[in-house]
Amino acid sequence: MKKETAAQRIERIKIEKDGLAVLEDIKQYAASNTEIDPEDIDRFKWYGLYTQNKNLQADTDNTLYFMLRIKLEHGSMNTPQMRCISQISREFAQDTADFTTRQDIQLHFIKVVDLPEIFKRLNNVGLSTVFAAGDVPRNVATCPVSGIEEKEIFDTTSLANEINDYLRGNHELVNLPRKYKIGISGCHKHCIGHEIQDLSFTAVKIDGEVLFAVTVGGGLGSNKKIALHLGYIFKEQVLDTVKTITIIYRDYGLRDSRRKARLGHLIDEWGLEKFKAFTEEKLGFAFIEKPIQEYMPYARREHFGIHKSTIVGKSYVGCAVNGGTIGSYGLNNLADILEKYNASTIKVTNTQNFIILDVPHENTEKLAKALLDINIEANPSPFKARTISCTGINFCKFAVSETKYQATWLASYLEQRFPDFDEHVSISLNGCPNSCAHPHVVDIGLMGAKVKDEEGNSVAGFELILGGNLEGEVSNFGFKTAIKILPKYLNRTVERIIEQYINSGQNGLHRF
Ligand code: SF4
Repeated sequence: MKKETAAQRIERIKIEKDGLAVLEDIKQYAASNTEIDPEDIDRFKWYGLYTQNKNLQADTDNTLYFMLRIKLEHGSMNTPQMRCISQISREFAQDTADFTTRQDIQLHFIKVVDLPEIFKRLNNVGLSTVFAAGDVPRNVATCPVSGIEEKEIFDTTSLANEINDYLRGNHELVNLPRKYKIGISGCHKHCIGHEIQDLSFTAVKIDGEVLFAVTVGGGLGSNKKIALHLGYIFKEQVLDTVKTITIIYRDYGLRDSRRKARLGHLIDEWGLEKFKAFTEEKLGFAFIEKPIQEYMPYARREHFGIHKSTIVGKSYVGCAVNGGTIGSYGLNNLADILEKYNASTIKVTNTQNFIILDVPHENTEKLAKALLDINIEANPSPFKARTISCTGINFCKFAVSETKYQATWLASYLEQRFPDFDEHVSISLNGCPNSCAHPHVVDIGLMGAKVKDEEGNSVAGFELILGGNLEGEVSNFGFKTAIKILPKYLNRTVERIIEQYINSGQNGLHRF
């Protein structure tokens, strides 16, 4: 009999038992401590669970460990939630906790036997892991300063809530062709990166009226495409448009190959005009035709520092964390600092950093100073601010190279080498040729690859990608230079690139 393909296997698995139904199996596996069916392990993703690389595991340790992604809607986490995750991390996850590029938080070293207790504790503080991974709608990308930023074009909080209410654990959406990423933003800096979302809504003011630009089919990895502009809609049409396009994707998305299953591939196959006409027919209205607006360059899409909020008496504080790694102690210390200075909530950004939303004006400087003690900076160097890194070899099964320590080391090396450099620069370290930390859209992308050392041995290293940028219609993916770098030469290599850029007198690294 012909062996089934990867796509056939996953499609069969999804039909035989849907991902949401695996919760009962998780409870049974936890209670019985029996060996887990590999096909159930695939379904565990629907609850945010991936099996973990054994890199940090002793040879004698045969435990099956998982990564657990906790979904943070709007990227939001209050102090009781921080303390809850911190405690879970301490008891069950060996103190690990990393912010992700989809505004979630991820723990490692999770054992199945602990999952019922972990899920119960998360549920008690209003958190969930449902649909944090798998072939489902992923966390909706939103601007972390929605509703509190003075220059915002439109506060999309309630629209994002409506979208979340529709998507959250929706049984009708439990079997999409692949992962599916939606974003909505009224941010004047366009910080959510609509260009790489499957479906996105960006507020724009045209002739004094707020409209939403609808873009479709963007993505990285197997679907490396800049999203295409469909047209504009009114805010009242956003939810219907989400529902309609999501169902079109579910029913017509390509399922024969995992590499061709994202929404962008369906649009490629149909052509944009057919996709648009079909969507309009289902919606019962036409997209509004207006010129496409300009967008902020990727490297300048950030909200660091202390800023006055639109809430009277409050400021928001944009903070940088090394490589997104916060850990259990970091979360607890952060909660202590927030409470001490009468703040309550953070929102995680898509660059693995966070914003503190509600600091009384008079406390901002004291709070920023206290954060420095736990290695969190409200006025970060450009290097610490925008150096992001994926999970890497310590926990990810696909990884070739280590990323988290390397990213922190690189940022601090560059800070020392260029103390006065104050331009926006974006750097990304990925452990493999996948694109979890977006190496193709940053100024300097480093992609995990096998490289030759001085003795000719094939060892873990990086391939250099240069010149990526997101900027609406004029976005471009960086080019692969074919330059391979041993980890020990990585800092010096990036240093040389920045030196040459400074000497060139160019304006903007992506134009260099
Ligand atoms: Fe894993 Fe590769 Fe994604 Fe990094 S880029 S998290 S190594 S799959």
